[in-house]
Amino acid sequence: MRLNISALAGRKGSSFRLKEERPADFLAKLSEVEQVLGPVVAELQVTNTGEGFLVVGDLSIEVELRCSRCLRPLKTTLSTSIEEEFLNHPEEAEEDWFWDEPSLVDGNEIDITSLIEESLLVSIPMKSVCQEDCPGLCPVCGTLLSEGKCDCSESAIDIRLAPLSKLLQQMSETTPPERRKDHGSTKEETFKSKS
Ligand SMILES: [Zn+2]
Ligand SMILES: [Zn+2]
Repeated sequence: MRLNISALAGRKGSSFRLKEERPADFLAKLSEVEQVLGPVVAELQVTNTGEGFLVVGDLSIEVELRCSRCLRPLKTTLSTSIEEEFLNHPEEAEEDWFWDEPSLVDGNEIDITSLIEESLLVSIPMKSVCQEDCPGLCPVCGTLLSEGKCDCSESAIDIRLAPLSKLLQQMSETTPPERRKDHGSTKEETFKSKS
């Protein structure tokens, strides 16, 4: 997306607002994004700072992601803010521009394409869920647990807990007498009865 800034040329402090809608095909290439459901809506303000042009504003776009628990598609709006100054000349940049290359004015235009793309990329959540308490999928058969329990879920838990329940059973059979000895409760009783 390129913005023509010739209306602000030579007028430090002047600014304009604009609302633009552009397709965002780059998002569809990402594995996190199932579908792009609309254009990027950019509401921006561009200001002539003297040294360059400051772009400030908000971006939003409707996309379809996948629930990270149940893998079902979910619609959401990615939204983020941007703020970037495009400089007239590279020498006006701060001394650390070697590390963070400054954005530059290109003739009477500024190109905010990569600014928009990078900002939207980092606005994609690492994990998204269709609902707060989404129970996800059965780890054994893959059944959607939000639509009812599967037959295998009970036995799957039994199989996993079988060794533990055996161990617990053994412990309950052997522990009580040992505990009495270890804690010396019999000695204590003897002492008490003597005094
Ligand atoms: Zn889900
Ligand atoms: Zn199952």
